[in-house]
Amino acid sequence: MSPRILDQSSKLKDVLYEIRGAALVEADRLQDEGHAILKLNTGNPAIFGFEAPFQIVRDMIEAVPHAHGYSDSRGIMSARRAVVSRYEEEPGFPQFDPDDVYLGNGVSELITMTMQALLDEGDEVLIPAPDYPLWTAMTSLADGTPVHYMCDESNGWMPDLDDIRAKITPATKAIVVINPNNPTGAVYSRELLEGIVEIAREHDLLLLSDEIYDRILFDDASHIPLATLAPDLLCLTFNGLSKTYRVAGYRSGWMVITGPKKHAAGFLEGIQLLASTRLCPNVPAQFAVQAALSGVQSIDALIGPAGRLHEQRDAAWETLTAIPGVTCVKPAGALYAFPRLDPDVYDIRDDGKLVYDFLVAEHVLIVPGTGFNWPTPDHLRIVTLPEARVLTEAIERLGNFLSSYRQ
Ligand code: PLP
Repeated sequence: MSPRILDQSSKLKDVLYEIRGAALVEADRLQDEGHAILKLNTGNPAIFGFEAPFQIVRDMIEAVPHAHGYSDSRGIMSARRAVVSRYEEEPGFPQFDPDDVYLGNGVSELITMTMQALLDEGDEVLIPAPDYPLWTAMTSLADGTPVHYMCDESNGWMPDLDDIRAKITPATKAIVVINPNNPTGAVYSRELLEGIVEIAREHDLLLLSDEIYDRILFDDASHIPLATLAPDLLCLTFNGLSKTYRVAGYRSGWMVITGPKKHAAGFLEGIQLLASTRLCPNVPAQFAVQAALSGVQSIDALIGPAGRLHEQRDAAWETLTAIPGVTCVKPAGALYAFPRLDPDVYDIRDDGKLVYDFLVAEHVLIVPGTGFNWPTPDHLRIVTLPEARVLTEAIERLGNFLSSYRQ
């Protein structure tokens, strides 16, 4: 008897994650053949020579001999207390206690848990376009309907408040805000955030705020935590160690619940239930949280005018905008550039194919804009983590490669 054909479940039909998609498989194959591939597809600082702060590594190593049991499902108390202390330093952040903090195997796991606890079939979630695609994917996996609100490139990629309003229906349950934004690098103004909060207030929406890049800011950008503007609304704030502390491999993040909770007891019990079913997050990595949050914030030296991340952001932006027909909103935060290829200059029907062909021709892996739920094939996302010299050369090669698409 031939074995039963095993296909993937139909739940996965709308679950897309282009950042590690088909082009990465080809990149790995080329690498196995002995080619050097520059992978600019993930925001993974460690592989570009960014060292983890010594104190974090040391504290985790010291903790390992005492970290072989399961912990509380929310996470170890010392780490949750460290998260409370961290937000006490944010002016205006609503008060919360360690029981309002969940640690997770990265923000990714907490996003998944939240969507599974929140959504039923047909429930709608407002998600930015472009977005970090896990939000869309996990909404779909939880049987919800992702509804994308547009961010306006001509206005520095700020969310379009009118579009948000226009897309609200009786089924809308929550709004996702990613600030600083991946992939655009936009950092939102107070006025804009107040506008989003006002809409959430009017329509009784849950606020889901992904702030994983909140300390990766350039020039005079400043980050305003969404919860500070919405003490009267239920708000879940997501953050973690992957980016600011350059330890993405530890898989360590947290989620903070603020605002009134009584009306949401069922949802919050659902989160607790799911946190329990996964038993607990990886325990050694939980020990890194207190070390990271209470230690020297070494990210500051990297983002300042003489810092590596700042220099690389500048190099990427300058090289991209020197390519004819390419424009790019200068990233004010995060680790990416999201350039636009003018459709009047370039004839691009399939940005996924362009990325694939660029990989094969030039051995550089980037991600198509449509992989971030951007509707048209006219953007690319480039990770700005390699050293400026490497980044500049790779983008110059992109410029040369693009000339074959000119019309
Ligand atoms: N949210 C955003 C906006 C991200 O860019 C990423 C990773 O790139 C994540 C969440 C996931 O982070 P973590 O490593 O904590 O799972």
